[in-house]
Amino acid sequence: MIQLYIPLNFLGVIYRELKQALTDLEKMFTLMEREREVDDAPGAPELQVPHGVVRFERVSFGYDANRAILQDVSFEIPAGRKVAVVGPSGAGKSTLARLMFRFYDVTDGRITIDGRDIREVTQSSLRRNIGIVPQDTVLFNDTVEYNIAYGRPGATRGEVEAAARAAHIHQFITSTPKGYDTMVGERGLKLSGGEKQRVAIARTLLKNPPILIFDEATSALDSANERAIQAELASAARNKTALVIAHRLSTVVDAHEILVMETGRIIERGTHAQLLAQGGRYAQMWALQQSGSE
Ligand code: ATP
Repeated sequence: MIQLYIPLNFLGVIYRELKQALTDLEKMFTLMEREREVDDAPGAPELQVPHGVVRFERVSFGYDANRAILQDVSFEIPAGRKVAVVGPSGAGKSTLARLMFRFYDVTDGRITIDGRDIREVTQSSLRRNIGIVPQDTVLFNDTVEYNIAYGRPGATRGEVEAAARAAHIHQFITSTPKGYDTMVGERGLKLSGGEKQRVAIARTLLKNPPILIFDEATSALDSANERAIQAELASAARNKTALVIAHRLSTVVDAHEILVMETGRIIERGTHAQLLAQGGRYAQMWALQQSGSE
């Protein structure tokens, strides 16, 4: 019995390791798949971002040729301002973020940063200048420190801590037995959605890019957590050009412009006050969320 038990137990460990390796491989292939969608133009220069003005000019896009996802989308995010996108699930909001990060190329129109078409510059320089806080942050099976420092390889412990403090996750980290050396991810300490998003904010703060994309989590956080994340986001986004994909309208009230999307088109646009005054789709959504949250 014992003889059988030990090898089986051992096999269990191997199985877990193997499963993890496969999951990591899968992630790697998913990333490689995305990488293969676009290529650097021969001799492409590095993107220079002196100001951080982002423009979508008549952008159309489909993941495959026979289904248009975005149609004729135009907007500008002035340097250091925030533009928010709202709309029902499947409207194409996250697709805007994927195109801006150049996981895919537009089918029509163009996206520029400080006047430069993003297809003309190297992908590495583009991505260095953009920080993404995704809906669902994937943590590496490594320490908290590694996961935050990933934003800027080579960052010192002091810099990692400063970013964690600014993202309000430092206290939580130091309350764990091994602090910054605590293993997280699938094999380590499990973090809540809000904690993971804070790690992502800390990572982005450390990277300190001039342009930010924030894809708000769809999963409902409790309102205290939500307010906290919003405050952290606001401090991360200070003086940065930001595209915010919002699921809760409270996030967008202070945006320079709000785009209301439906089936791949912008159907309304303006500031919060302008959109409320219009009494259209946004005003309806606002009334609905207000009554829902009361
Ligand atoms: P949500 O609020 O639920 O995140 P969204 O507005 O961000 O939705 P997108 O994720 O941009 O919506 O998706 C827009 C459309 O594109 C959806 O119909 C979706 O099914 C489709 N889509 C998204 N990703 C892919 C993909 N990799 N391949 C094919 N179709 C896709």
